[in-house]
Amino acid sequence: MKKIIVLFYVLGLGITYAQNEKYQGQPPIEIVPTDARPVQRQWKGNFTFDDDAVMFSNDFDGARLNGIVKNNDSTYTVLITPENTPINTSPWYAFKVWAKEKNPINVVMTYHESAKHRYYPKLSSDGLVWSPLDSINYTEYEKGDKAFGPGSLPVKVSMKLHIGPDTLWVSGQELHTSHHVSAWVDSLAKKDFIAKKIIGKSRQDRNLNLLAIGKETSKNMLIVISRQHPPEVTGYLAMKTFIETITSDTKLAKKFRRKFTTYVVPLMNPDGVDNGHWRHNAGGIDLNRDWANFNQPETRAVKHFMEEKVRQNQGKFYFGIDFHSTWDDIYYTVDPDLEGNMPSLVTDWLTDIKKELDGYDPNIRPSDNMLPTTVSRNYFFVAHGAEALVFEIGDNTPRAFLKKKARVSANILMQLMLERLK
Ligand SMILES: [Zn+2]
Repeated sequence: MKKIIVLFYVLGLGITYAQNEKYQGQPPIEIVPTDARPVQRQWKGNFTFDDDAVMFSNDFDGARLNGIVKNNDSTYTVLITPENTPINTSPWYAFKVWAKEKNPINVVMTYHESAKHRYYPKLSSDGLVWSPLDSINYTEYEKGDKAFGPGSLPVKVSMKLHIGPDTLWVSGQELHTSHHVSAWVDSLAKKDFIAKKIIGKSRQDRNLNLLAIGKETSKNMLIVISRQHPPEVTGYLAMKTFIETITSDTKLAKKFRRKFTTYVVPLMNPDGVDNGHWRHNAGGIDLNRDWANFNQPETRAVKHFMEEKVRQNQGKFYFGIDFHSTWDDIYYTVDPDLEGNMPSLVTDWLTDIKKELDGYDPNIRPSDNMLPTTVSRNYFFVAHGAEALVFEIGDNTPRAFLKKKARVSANILMQLMLERLK
């Protein structure tokens, strides 16, 4: 194994870690029942201390803060718990904190049972513009020695926060709730070649928005989805740039839109995101295990939409992509020996992305195990013949790089698909 020291600068500030080995990817997907299960509703409100001298709040969309104790005049210990169990180690947190007087406090982050601290804290004064906590103010305890996965994480961390009368927002990643995503969808839908549709409702009655980019009668279609898993913000950010490239004014994008129509579901799990869930929807289910049984309204809406489109347009989905986040950038592809509607598209695409991004070595994990469909990639491939993959961005991938990669990826994909349609 090559020993390369790679420096990662999260959002431009100096968090560094050594990458000694390549991420090996997740173990084989387990097949689990996807009938709804109860979730624990988070108590919402303000947590007050010292006659309101210091206040914490989880009373906003995307928040997660389940309990706090004051240890002494300057130290508070926070507890973060999941919506239900068993659950993946992706312990999301987000809260606001302020004080009557300007004063630094220490906040110790602790987690339910075996969960550990995963997301490097981001701070904001308005909930819109975020920057990582200065590493001087961040201490990890009992950190694991693995390069990736739960074994790489500290059991708890302490952060020194400089608080005062102005609200300080603290969150595991930048906050992109259903409200933020809708604003993005609406801004794109102003373009005359983009339509916004509602393809269904979540369990808690939130809209499942879809963008139709190009002519809705086109026989040549793509499906793009993101955010089945609420904390996976970096995947969502890559999806945004990917779509903004397809909707741009370049000659290539215009030509592409004349031949292909791209359908996008940017927020698959709005309930999970707004409730600050670690992974599941409001039915307590990992949506990316429900693409065989379709017990949940969110997956069912996409299935129904795709089937209807194929029937109405007598068309085909040539490409399907599902954006996620994990420990490091990785692509879960379909084994190239299995041919869909545009054979070799994904392999050639990843080869060209590697050529275009100097020094970038894509981590590609193909699978030939397509049944039962269980996950979105398998469903897109098996049910529709779409050349499909999961596009995973690391939790700590620098934002500038993930945007560049998404832009380059969209441009190369458009080029290759246009060549193949001739
Ligand atoms: Zn995911």
